[in-house]
Amino acid sequence: MKHLTEYSDPSSIHALAAEIARISKRPARIMEVCGGQTHAILRHALDTLLPPHVRLLHGPGCPVCVTPSAYLDHAISIARRPGTIVTTFGDLLRVPSNASGDLYAAKARGADVRMVTSPLQALDFARQNPDRQVVHLAIGFETTAPANAMLAYLAKERGLANVSLLVSQFLVPPILRAICADPETAPDAFLAAGHVCAVVGSDPYVSLARELSRPVAITGFEPADILLGVLDVLRLFEQGRAEMINAYPRIVHPQGNPEARRTIDTVFEVSDREWRGLGVVPKSGLSLRPAYAAHDAARIFPAPPPSEAAESLHCPADQVLLGRLQPPDCPHFGTRCTPDHPLGAPMVSPEGPCAAFFLHRRLP
Ligand code: SF4
Repeated sequence: MKHLTEYSDPSSIHALAAEIARISKRPARIMEVCGGQTHAILRHALDTLLPPHVRLLHGPGCPVCVTPSAYLDHAISIARRPGTIVTTFGDLLRVPSNASGDLYAAKARGADVRMVTSPLQALDFARQNPDRQVVHLAIGFETTAPANAMLAYLAKERGLANVSLLVSQFLVPPILRAICADPETAPDAFLAAGHVCAVVGSDPYVSLARELSRPVAITGFEPADILLGVLDVLRLFEQGRAEMINAYPRIVHPQGNPEARRTIDTVFEVSDREWRGLGVVPKSGLSLRPAYAAHDAARIFPAPPPSEAAESLHCPADQVLLGRLQPPDCPHFGTRCTPDHPLGAPMVSPEGPCAAFFLHRRLP
């Protein structure tokens, strides 16, 4: 296939589905760890094209969904302080914290919370408001890390002391290891996120597939991309091979994006990280290096005391994000929990599995 439209051509898609049905002989559970892929699978009903013994599980690949409630409490406490401006991507605005509501409500009550499309907009706000601290909410996976790192790098280079980052950056490989630690629920194969691998490269996933003892296919986002990834992991699975296949070579190269990786390594170091509903996973995140401590909002603004409120009493998001519960099987799906009134983060972002099911697979 040479042109993007060919990746959503019905005849290609049905040919791939037929090939999957032909080669797949035994039950297989395949997990994608990317909210964009979850969304594409449900929007195009790709799971309905697979044989019944092949199941797609939707893993913890939505960055907003895995950002912990304590992080939001901290962000909201900063936003409520006089003299601060908080910048964020839009999908974090309505994610509920257990103790503090959400950023949208804080904004409605007067906090200066600004939606941005690039972290670098924080630099402009800082120049225009030299007497105020501009705090960017730096969340996401390896995909967002380069731009967030560049914000810290430029703030330091330009001597903008009133720019800081509240960091909750996640790394994908450690969470795949954590998922595979439970043999009862671990999937048989993974689809790895193409945009993550566009940054880090396909090379690290060669040894990761061996380590996980499972096939991994680096996969894109068009319907044929996803079915190609499914076909590749099923071929390996049927042959008992724990290997990596790059099914997205038009974007992902073995070394990834060396410039982006250099920027990440300059600014960030690997650290333990809390995942919402999943607890602290060792070495699963990035934090600012000591050289960037002056731009670390977590040091400038101490976190509020831990909330007594447990992770949502009503939302079994951890079970959904580990692929153990399909969103429609949650008792609150579509009733108490909808995109307009979300009980949990997976219903907020369009990349969240609950929102994706609600938008594309709601029962009449
Ligand atoms: S449907 Fe709502 S309550 Fe249920 S897991 Fe999803 S976000 Fe949580």
